Amino acid sequence: NKFEELGLDAQIVNAVNDMGFESPSEVQEKAIPILLEQDTDLVALAQTGTGKTAAFGFPLIQRINANSKKTQGLILSPTRELCLQITNELKNYSKYVKGLSTVAIYGGASISEQANQIKRGAQIIVATPGRMKDMVGRRMIDISTIDYCVLDEADEMLNMGFYEDITDILSHTPKEKKTWLFSATMPKEVATIASKFMHKPVEITV
Ligand code: AMP
Repeated sequence: NKFEELGLDAQIVNAVNDMGFESPSEVQEKAIPILLEQDTDLVALAQTGTGKTAAFGFPLIQRINANSKKTQGLILSPTRELCLQITNELKNYSKYVKGLSTVAIYGGASISEQANQIKRGAQIIVATPGRMKDMVGRRMIDISTIDYCVLDEADEMLNMGFYEDITDILSHTPKEKKTWLFSATMPKEVATIASKFMHKPVEITV
């Protein structure tokens, strides 16, 4: 199995087989071994539809300690729709990983309901920047000990004016965390985020 050869555990490979994925996409082939084997920041230039959600999702799921309820991974994405889509994909990928919980945080829905979901324990949070900043500021979410932060569609988030929200959120995360940035394009603003908030990222392009 080609997914096994990338270093993925049986639990994930079984879920991948259930989903009918036959072989890894290019971004998956490039990103997964790096993210599994190296403790590194990553900048990946990849369009939507290339399988990038799995490219960061598989390694994230494999690296998380499902025996701890602590929040370990944060994924920021530009829209509520994308946030729900990523959450749904991660739940499918992690269906054989016992105890792993992924929660979606986004605007336009009940904040107390989302706070309750967080209280029950979520190792992975998938969030839009505005609502996330709000809930971190109100101490409804603690991200002071996360290990991984994914910035998905970074160019899109910055286009939508989320720079301040993103930097505010990142200021509540530990310096030692690893940041994985995915973007379709690399405008100045994205390069600025990478140079200010990331440490010697490995770069891949598909
Ligand atoms: P994404 O670029 O992450 O939005 O993924 C685009 C679509 O491709 C999603 O519906 C995925 O479920 C699907 N997908 C991701 N990886 C693979 C793969 N290796 N083989 C077939 N489909 C995939």
